[in-house]
Amino acid sequence: MKAIVFQDQNTPTLKDRPDPRPGAGEVLIEVHASGICHTDIEVLRGNYGTSAFPLIPGHEYAGRILEIGPEVADLKAGDRVVVDPNLECGTCPACKRGWTHLCETLGAYGVTCDGGFAEYSVVKASRVHLIGDMPYDIAALAEPLGCVMNGLDAAQATRAKTALVFGAGPIGLLMAIGMQVSGVKKVSLVDIDAARLDLAESFGFPGIAAQSAELEAMHHGIDLVADATGVPAVAASLTDYVTNGGVGMFFGICPSEARIEISPFELFRRQITLAGSHSLNHNIPQALKGLRAYGKDIARIVSHRVALEEIAAVFDGSLPKSSLKIQFTRP
Ligand SMILES: [Zn+2]
Ligand SMILES: [Zn+2]
Repeated sequence: MKAIVFQDQNTPTLKDRPDPRPGAGEVLIEVHASGICHTDIEVLRGNYGTSAFPLIPGHEYAGRILEIGPEVADLKAGDRVVVDPNLECGTCPACKRGWTHLCETLGAYGVTCDGGFAEYSVVKASRVHLIGDMPYDIAALAEPLGCVMNGLDAAQATRAKTALVFGAGPIGLLMAIGMQVSGVKKVSLVDIDAARLDLAESFGFPGIAAQSAELEAMHHGIDLVADATGVPAVAASLTDYVTNGGVGMFFGICPSEARIEISPFELFRRQITLAGSHSLNHNIPQALKGLRAYGKDIARIVSHRVALEEIAAVFDGSLPKSSLKIQFTRP
């Protein structure tokens, strides 16, 4: 089979690999849609995961089961599924508390072992969820939306009536959609790129230009403010927009060495909560429900559906201009 292989740090390649076979408790998936995520870039640079190279990346993928291994019940060849990439140990203190995404030895398909940028992928049967007749490109959004759902849980989003999301890229849009399906009444998106603001508006979210008077008018006025840019200066500004008693949420991946200034007095006096968010904690079913609730229009978040060759080019450094979510899709 053809697969993207991170041969070593900063060395993406397109290779022929032997077709994988399912072992006990595993299923073989014919990959139909697999999305690129910023995390993949961090994995390639050696900034995230265990750098277990060579590695087939890709943790946002959906496909059709071709074959089931021994000891697999409840699944059969032909089933349409999406993968929950996380592989938790189940026994460490975090796992025992139910915080499996914070497992001390968390692994994941596409991060610590082979994932979905390949024609075929073998995963544990316990890691797949049936998608019914949902199109594969939409189902492959369940993993990033699952991360959003986990973050919204950490940020107690059900208390929020208003929200502001910095960054109107694919994950910012999924964040806004996740907030909307979670019951937040008014969600706005901020970006420096006018085209992305137009796109936000096309999804029904007010698009607000960075450094505009409109943004300044939101000073201390928003219940839930999320960073989906990973830019430290943006992360540092969240509390400027959080209302008294509100929440600032760190969702974008900032450089690990970045530091920002926080006023502890301000957090105290205005009773502000700062929430971190990492990965997903068995949120795929919730995300599939959200994708169904939002409807087919969500497929517009996928701007490019391309062959593995073109995915290889993206990892080599040429991101298509004005792209949103880029997916490998089987023709
Ligand atoms: Zn991701
Ligand atoms: Zn664990």
